[in-house]
Amino acid sequence: MLRLLLPALLIGSLAVPAAEDNSAPPAGNLRVDRGPGMLALYIPRSESLEFDVEIDIGIADLDVGDVELSSGVDAYVPGLPSATAKAPKNGDDLERGWVRSVATGSYLSYRLEHELKTRILPQTFPALFHTDSQRGSENRNRELKIGVRDGALTAEFRSDAHCKGCTNREHFNEPKWIWGKAEHCRKCKKLEHRAWKDAVSREIPAGTLDMLSAVYLARTLVREDLETTTFPVIDRQKVWEVTLTRGKTRRIKTDSGTFDCQLVQLATSFLAEENDKDEEQNSSTFSGLFGIQGTIQIWLERKTGVPVLIEGELPIPLPLVDKLDVRVRLKRYKNTPAEFKPLPK
Ligand SMILES: [Zn+2]
Ligand SMILES: [Zn+2]
Repeated sequence: MLRLLLPALLIGSLAVPAAEDNSAPPAGNLRVDRGPGMLALYIPRSESLEFDVEIDIGIADLDVGDVELSSGVDAYVPGLPSATAKAPKNGDDLERGWVRSVATGSYLSYRLEHELKTRILPQTFPALFHTDSQRGSENRNRELKIGVRDGALTAEFRSDAHCKGCTNREHFNEPKWIWGKAEHCRKCKKLEHRAWKDAVSREIPAGTLDMLSAVYLARTLVREDLETTTFPVIDRQKVWEVTLTRGKTRRIKTDSGTFDCQLVQLATSFLAEENDKDEEQNSSTFSGLFGIQGTIQIWLERKTGVPVLIEGELPIPLPLVDKLDVRVRLKRYKNTPAEFKPLPK
């Protein structure tokens, strides 16, 4: 089986060879070593998991949308997406992995399509390339690159915003009266009116992952029968400490059968040294997967670590309530490990 080593995530420990793991890795996965003492990531080669998103409104569960979690492994083509990053010499048989989450939904007149995608690349920069794009009633794009640059593990972040004023006539609104002048649009939600802001770079701790990869690390915890692990996660420009803790076991019912599951709690804590980085972000809380805030409960199938149910709270300011319970429940699956099976009826 091919192994993918993330040179970028080994920074600070390059002299120490990665500990050899003798446990048989699950077939059909790309193993991504993150460095000594750090859990490996396993990327399923062509897995697709479809979930229903339900919101608990007290009297009933409301189906508000769908989430698809998928992953894949392809041949690595050096030079993409960064032409300047140094590619390893034996580039012939290297592979790159990717994981993707697509959430679609609508509620009243609000429509949403939200895609998160992380590419894991066998090169120094970026070694992780994470994109976050939202389409629908609101449009926005974010990009995060993680890798070694100038000898330091670096995160480069950029996001878009409504264009503040340019000469592109397509950004101009028609005059309001016949003798008026066409003027640059001041504010709207159109995707065509958005422009990238300058990228911002910062140094980050060894082993830092993005939020989506963190969910795949929860699978490793279950597969390798571990109790807990802690690692840094970067959200936009800010680093948080994420702790995964194994909890109880329970049978979870889904439309595609009942599964024997293991709970993994994903808790986020604030790092004191992150204090003065960015005022705007200091005031906001960590926005976890699917917008869930606070602790995320991930129920994974006990043998394979396939996620079956994800639970948490959505911060929705409505009259009388400020939070809603959300449940993301498996409904269809494809190319999961052979041992992933519902319990006999
Ligand atoms: Zn403009
Ligand atoms: Zn506009």
